[in-house]
Amino acid sequence: MSNEFHCGYVAILGRPNVGKSTLLNHLIGQKISITSRKPQTTRHQILGIKTLESAQILYIDTPGIHKQAHHALNRYMNRVATGAIPGVDVIVFMVDGLQWYEDDDLVLKKIETVDRPVILAVNKIDKIADKTALLPHLEMLSKKRQFAAVVPISAKRQADVMALEQVIVRYLPENPPLFPEDQVTDRSERFLVAEIIREKLMRHLGKELPYALTVEIEQFKQTDKLLRIAAVIYVEKASQKRIVIGEDGELLKAVGTEARLEMEKWLADKIFLQLWVKVKRGWSDDERSLQSLGYGK
Ligand code: GDP
Ligand code: MG
Repeated sequence: MSNEFHCGYVAILGRPNVGKSTLLNHLIGQKISITSRKPQTTRHQILGIKTLESAQILYIDTPGIHKQAHHALNRYMNRVATGAIPGVDVIVFMVDGLQWYEDDDLVLKKIETVDRPVILAVNKIDKIADKTALLPHLEMLSKKRQFAAVVPISAKRQADVMALEQVIVRYLPENPPLFPEDQVTDRSERFLVAEIIREKLMRHLGKELPYALTVEIEQFKQTDKLLRIAAVIYVEKASQKRIVIGEDGELLKAVGTEARLEMEKWLADKIFLQLWVKVKRGWSDDERSLQSLGYGK
């Protein structure tokens, strides 16, 4: 590699739940994108900025691309994910271990005509019991399209993630850095705070209420002693409101405590967090409500 500086955008694409956000967080070395066992945890494009000595990598985490797009929120998420494809310099296409699903084919189709390098990251190899199955599987995968590289990883293992990063850097164009070297994301603290609350909710309730939840920050105010945050959790029905609050308010209390502790770790501050739950009927299947709740475009 020359002495020139390299900088470019790298989209992380894949079906839901393959580990895209986990990879982004490990690439950046800090949590900026929320994760959970539930599909469709990521709803927005999240930019993660990694500055090295001679390169700046601008990673774009995306919602999982998936077929079932009857719902307005699902359509929005697919739009966000595929919207990341034009304009990037490199694509990391992520799949899960020895598995291959219809939605993986769908992702493949979305990048069919892309002429920029596509790196295939085969994730969760730590979960593969029979390691001899991996090689033939990688061979099969490498025939799916022309890949710049096929890299088996565990997104949770730092050494693997750094090896993938080295491959990515090779394909970045020569450009000066676009962001200051100490910046890790373009998202505001206010946005990240809402995402933390949503992550805790998804982890507790993603199965019962996968789409019904969203979070809006109503107050984000630094006073002398503490950071005051007030957030509204929107659900679609009164019955869901009862679920979120839980028996004697236990669930909401647990979510609030978990979210507050994580925010304090991030923002290094004392935080006073207030949560409310409100019903906004049918918000996730209504384009206008989606817009007003930050799912714009
Ligand atoms: P995304 O929907 O593609 O962004 O996936 P997430 O990053 O939210 O991860 C989905 C689930 O897979 C989470 O429970 C992660 O902890 C888990 N996961 C991600 N990467 C790995 C990995 O390399 N190994 C294992 N065992 N689990 C992983
Ligand atoms: Mg994600």
